[in-house]
Amino acid sequence: MLVIEDLTRQYGGRRAVDGVSLQIEPGSFVGVIGRSGAGKSTLLRLINRLADPSSGRILHDGRDVTRLRGRALRDWRTRCAMIFQQFNLVGRLDVMTNVLMGRLSHVPSYRSLLRQWSEEDRAMALAALESFDMGEFAGQRADGLSGGQQQRVAIARALVQEPEILLADEPVASLDPRNTRLVMDALAEVNRRYGITVLCNLHSLDLARAYCDRLVGLSAGRVVFEGGPFDLTEDV
Ligand code: ADP
Ligand code: ADP
Repeated sequence: MLVIEDLTRQYGGRRAVDGVSLQIEPGSFVGVIGRSGAGKSTLLRLINRLADPSSGRILHDGRDVTRLRGRALRDWRTRCAMIFQQFNLVGRLDVMTNVLMGRLSHVPSYRSLLRQWSEEDRAMALAALESFDMGEFAGQRADGLSGGQQQRVAIARALVQEPEILLADEPVASLDPRNTRLVMDALAEVNRRYGITVLCNLHSLDLARAYCDRLVGLSAGRVVFEGGPFDLTEDV
C-alpha cells in the first residue's frame, strides 16, 4: 500500500502539489487526471523521488520513502519504474539494449558492461518485448520506431526492472488514437498479468474511464476528486 500524507511541493511561491493525501491500493490501475499544470507530473516525480517534497510524507508499506538516501533510494527507484511522454529511449542503441537497461539495477556491477548480459536477462527482456508485440524489433535502432512502438519498448524496459509500481507520466500524450490504444493496452497488461500497480497521468477522461479502476482528479495541485471511473460526472 502506498499512502501519501499531506504532500506539498513548492516552486518559488507556488504550490505545484498542495496538501495531497491519497491511498493507492496494491494492484490497482489509478488514473490521475487534470489540466496541464495541475500538478500530475510533480506528484509522480515526488513518488519516485525525482523531486523532493516541501512537506508531507509518502509511506510504502509503512516506510517513509521521502527520507531514503543512497542504496535504499536506488532500491526504491527500481521498485517504482517510470515512463514518460517522450519515451526517453537511447535512440542510437537497439531495442534489446534499451530494454536491458531496465535490468541494470539487478546485475552486479561487473556485468553492467552492456555486452555481458546473462541469458536470463536477455530472455526476460525478449519476453517483455514479446508481451507487447515488439519482439521482432529487438535488433533495430530505437530511433527508427514509431512513437507508439517506442513507448511499448519503454514499458518493456520498465517491466524488466520488476517494479511493484509503474508511474506513467502522460504516456500517450504524443500518440495518435491507434497507438494510444496499443500503449494503454500494454499498461493494462502490466497491471493485470503482472499485478503491478499502475499510476497513470492522463489528459483524457474517456481514456481514464476505459482503463482505470480508480480516478484521482487534480486541480491547482489539490485533489478535487477521488473515486470510481464513473463517479466523476463533470470536468476536473
Ligand atoms: P501537470 O503534470 O499536471 O501538467 P506539473 O506537475 O508539470 O503539472 O506542474 C504543476 C505546476 O508546477 C506548474 O505550474 C508548473 O509550471 C510548476 N512546476 C513543475 N515543475 C517545476 C519546476 N521544476 N520548477 C518550477 N516550477 C515547476
Ligand atoms: P508536462 O506538461 O509534460 O507535465 P512540463 O512542461 O510541465 O511537463 O515540465 C517539463 C519539465 O520542466 C519538468 O521537468 C518540470 O519539472 C519542468 N518545469 C515545468 N514547469 C517549470 C517551470 N515553471 N520552471 C522550471 N521548470 C519547470
